[in-house]
Amino acid sequence: EHGDPSTRAEARVDLAAIRANVEAIRGRVGDAAVLAVVKADGYGHGLVPAARAAVDGGAGWLGVATIEEALALRAAGLTAPRILSWLAAPGERWQPALAAGVDVAAYSAWQLNEIAEAAEHAGATARVHLKIDSGLNRGGAGPKDWPALIDAALSAQAEGTVRVAGIWSHLACADELGHPSVDRQLAVFREAVAFAERVGVRPEVRHLANSAATLTRPDTHFDLVRPGLAVYGLSPVPEVSSPGELGLVPAMSVRARLALVKRVPAGEGVSYGHRYVTSTETTLGLVPLGYADGVPRAASNLGPVWAGGRRRTIAGTVCMDQFVLDLGDVATVAGDEVVLFGAGTSGEPTAQDWADATGTISWEIVTRIGARVPRHYV
Ligand code: PLP
Repeated sequence: EHGDPSTRAEARVDLAAIRANVEAIRGRVGDAAVLAVVKADGYGHGLVPAARAAVDGGAGWLGVATIEEALALRAAGLTAPRILSWLAAPGERWQPALAAGVDVAAYSAWQLNEIAEAAEHAGATARVHLKIDSGLNRGGAGPKDWPALIDAALSAQAEGTVRVAGIWSHLACADELGHPSVDRQLAVFREAVAFAERVGVRPEVRHLANSAATLTRPDTHFDLVRPGLAVYGLSPVPEVSSPGELGLVPAMSVRARLALVKRVPAGEGVSYGHRYVTSTETTLGLVPLGYADGVPRAASNLGPVWAGGRRRTIAGTVCMDQFVLDLGDVATVAGDEVVLFGAGTSGEPTAQDWADATGTISWEIVTRIGARVPRHYV
């Protein structure tokens, strides 16, 4: 249960929770396959351990942003699951991706041609997912450009350099329940799929849904869903449903041991800028984590942090490597454990609480936990 008592700080990752979250997602999507999004170091949980746990939970696919992430998964021995890598720049290193059997995305006709050329050089057939921009106005081919993309795919498929493995899009506002753009994007995506099928492109999988759509919009499931956040047990719709209500368990907790505890009188300014002043005589605890570790500086004077069975406020400015907690009169000694966030089941704050306190989203809280914080897997 508990980490190494000598640990200064750690991100504890519950792999059974990741497995169970994927199982819970599978239970909601019928015959649709599950692609677990493990980009950005598995949303901070560790690329390879998170991927393995997701596969154990029944994810047949893994999703990453970059080819480097995809190659790292293959190199770690994840050879069975399909891997889709979706972000590339001109002149991308397509060949290693193709050699490793990684599916890639094409956003435009020129990108598809670049992939087809690399496949020809490699003597391989590239498995390509055609990215449709259905209204996010980020990556992908919009209505003006998708005929050219689909045409290029048809030609490359006829030449044997490309196999259209998928056609897909991404939603802008699925986390805002009832947002009219979801219906609009769904209609545009359906139109693109129908167009592709009319001209003879028959993708193996059509996919659209992120976590929010996976959990709230079954009409977006198609053949494959692409949850990220939900895999890690966090709610993509926190104003509406908690993780527990969605059948999810947060997998990450961030903990540290107090490096120092000291008593100070009332009226003392604490940390850079003296932005916190003690109102009474109190006990201060030094937590050896800072903004370089992903503790938002915006949490200065906020937090909260679980210490001595209570939520405590951060005293003053979060520094690069450390911050101070006002522990009040709680009996604490150096070495005692504090919890920045966890599953919330014992009263400790959650990643969502940190997101709410600092004006961001839980995705950012977990993905920014820095490389200096060791991950311990339980
Ligand atoms: N699909 C794509 C293309 C993404 O970029 C992401 C992540 O941003 C996801 C799916 C997963 O999103 P979420 O974490 O909201 O489930």
